Amino acid sequence: MSNFTFPILRLLADGKFHSGEAIAKQLNVSRATVWNALQAAEALGVEIFSVRGRGYKLPQTVTLLNEQAVLNAIGEQRDKFTLEIHDHLASTNTYLMQKLSSGQAHASCVAANLQTNGRGRRGRAWQAGLGASLTFSLLWRFQCGAAGLSGLSLAVGVALIRSLHSFGVNQAQLKWPNDVLIGREKLAGILIELQGDMEGPSAAVIGVGINLNLPASIKQQIDQPATDLASVAPHSINPNELLGTLLKHLSEVLANFEQQGFASVRNEWVSHHAYHQKPVKMLHPNGNETFGTVLNVADDGVLLVSTTQGEQRFLSGEISLRAAE
Ligand code: ATP
Repeated sequence: MSNFTFPILRLLADGKFHSGEAIAKQLNVSRATVWNALQAAEALGVEIFSVRGRGYKLPQTVTLLNEQAVLNAIGEQRDKFTLEIHDHLASTNTYLMQKLSSGQAHASCVAANLQTNGRGRRGRAWQAGLGASLTFSLLWRFQCGAAGLSGLSLAVGVALIRSLHSFGVNQAQLKWPNDVLIGREKLAGILIELQGDMEGPSAAVIGVGINLNLPASIKQQIDQPATDLASVAPHSINPNELLGTLLKHLSEVLANFEQQGFASVRNEWVSHHAYHQKPVKMLHPNGNETFGTVLNVADDGVLLVSTTQGEQRFLSGEISLRAAE
């Protein structure tokens, strides 16, 4: 990426046409530099309209992340967090995982305006784009060992639901273990990576991707139904307010989790589970499928499913839940 790519994208964030000449003048560079910088943006998947005689424009207005606005939205808890906002990162989780061993502070949050290599579970990809999604990761250090963190990704889902409710998105539901859905469409995903001994202390990097406004070009790269806040929220949501609100709720949920584990939010989680007492298909890593009906979720986040072989317990690590058609 050129040094001028993001300065130019900041100018284009208003969603209006800017001529190459005007951009060059504002940044005191040549028009060739502008062109090269925008080529670099396109190579990262940023869609840019270029019209002869009018200049360049983004498909829509983009609100870029702003540290002060995020801190304001966190409110009283803001001093707890160390916030880093990047224009571009391959993956916010990868970045924070790399920083972990060099003593990165507890409650560090890293967000990227553009994440180009986001990851899901088990090597899957998370699609994102400039203005299309909010992508961030939060580092949380725990006194307990990794063994005490079962159910953490479910607890994080509760923080997401509380945040979405505060913006009037009341129809969001959870899918075990780690997705946020609207109906059958995926709105957000969570990826948690752990480091540390089973005995403790341990650290979790909690990655979250929430779709803000997915263009068709990104939607078609996603191999399951997906939706975004622009389609489902009652009013437009500022990503800075969304990130601040998420951090506020995450810090509450994680503080309770430290004391009481997933049990602290289990009932709330169950009340939002899209598949509670519904028929489901559980997919095993080897391709096998188990059909059954969801009974409940245990205090450690294990999913309890009634099957023809009796009650079975599913640990979140390698297993995926799908609706049984
Ligand atoms: P599981 O039920 O195991 O969580 P999953 O298919 O949802 O299964 P994840 O690892 O949670 O898997 O998320 C990655 C998957 O999410 C991708 O394989 C893709 O199907 C989907 N996906 C990728 N990007 C997006 C996005 N921006 N919005 C919605 N869904 C996405």
